[in-house]
Amino acid sequence: MSLPDKQGHFGEFGGKYVPETLMALLEELEKVFRAARRDKSFQRELAYYLNEYAGRPTSLYLAERLNRHLKTLKVYLKREDLLHTGAHKINNTLGQVLLAKRMKKTRIIAETGAGQHGVATATAAAFMGLHCEVYMGSEDIERQALNVDRMKLLGAKVVPVTSGSQTLKDAMNEAIRDWVTNVRNTFYIIGSVAGPHPYPLMVREFQSIIGKEARRQFLAKEKRLPDYLVACVGGGSNAMGLFHAFFNDKHTKMIGVEAAGLGLATGHHAATLMKGDIGVLHGSKSNILETKDGQIKVAHSIAAGLDYPGVGPEHAYYKKIGRAGYVSVTDKKALEGLRLLSRTEGIIPALETAHAISYLERLARKAPRNSRVIVCLSGRGDKDMGSIKGLIK
Ligand SMILES: *Cc1c(COP(=O)(O)O)cnc(C)c1O
Repeated sequence: MSLPDKQGHFGEFGGKYVPETLMALLEELEKVFRAARRDKSFQRELAYYLNEYAGRPTSLYLAERLNRHLKTLKVYLKREDLLHTGAHKINNTLGQVLLAKRMKKTRIIAETGAGQHGVATATAAAFMGLHCEVYMGSEDIERQALNVDRMKLLGAKVVPVTSGSQTLKDAMNEAIRDWVTNVRNTFYIIGSVAGPHPYPLMVREFQSIIGKEARRQFLAKEKRLPDYLVACVGGGSNAMGLFHAFFNDKHTKMIGVEAAGLGLATGHHAATLMKGDIGVLHGSKSNILETKDGQIKVAHSIAAGLDYPGVGPEHAYYKKIGRAGYVSVTDKKALEGLRLLSRTEGIIPALETAHAISYLERLARKAPRNSRVIVCLSGRGDKDMGSIKGLIK
């Protein structure tokens, strides 16, 4: 059975928990998306821009010096960090911008936390000549000044959000409000496999190029399938992008790495799957971090891109049926992972990605000798140099 079902459910998760006014918009969007998916000219156009503009296919690189350090694993890195704008997010924003064009929308809106999805959206909008507005919490605008400048340079308007905790979840609420009001000319680009149906399906579809390529590349190199897939999980789009093509490969284990922040016991973390409850956030039923009386908690991670109190519903489903396992890595360990990859391979990963790298040291101790692993190197670390100043010895 292929999931999600018609209502957007992955088992008990997903769906469309939205007000009446949004229902029609989501149905229209789904119709256009499904038609585009079947349309060869849409697929050709998307492939053209992914290859010629964004830099696909990305390499699947055997990390020999990292492997010498890890001793027991044979790790390949799927190099999404080499894409234009430095991360996997452009796979999705290019796809959605092309959909917007197809729907004859002239205005793009997005939410952003750290600013990475905002930059990827502003980039895609600039290059398609569309007006772009990005909702961003005032807190985040302060913390992520560099990305705010990037978005402005790309011609986007950054709209400060002063409600709630003034972070990502509030920015998403505002973006949804804007969409309902201005839907005639506006397309809303969500940045991860979260939100109401059809977004989790749509974003998965645009990111699944990661796993399709990696699977083909791995088979060509190793003449077999990998034993493990490892990826960091914020909303879950780079992980789902890698995992999805391997769903039916029963012997390939999937591991999603969440942010343990200051430690799971401290409450200051973003480990939604490990520590969350079932609930509804941003129109979708999944695992969420909430207080006893049902308020959404503020998540914490040193990696701004993992700092989200929800997670895509398909991950909640994979966890429930045991198809994927989820682990967590602290801020401190992530910094060690960042240093490890920098020193062994000359690749400075994003702080988000560094969580997945760090987990390899744990996997190396328990996996059978010579296990083959693909890690999604979701992004490069240049953007984080400011925030880790003084933390790297
Ligand atoms: C945004 C981001 C993430 C987290 O988002 P997912 O949807 O979980 O992939 C991970 N890595 C990088 C480099 C990012 O920019």
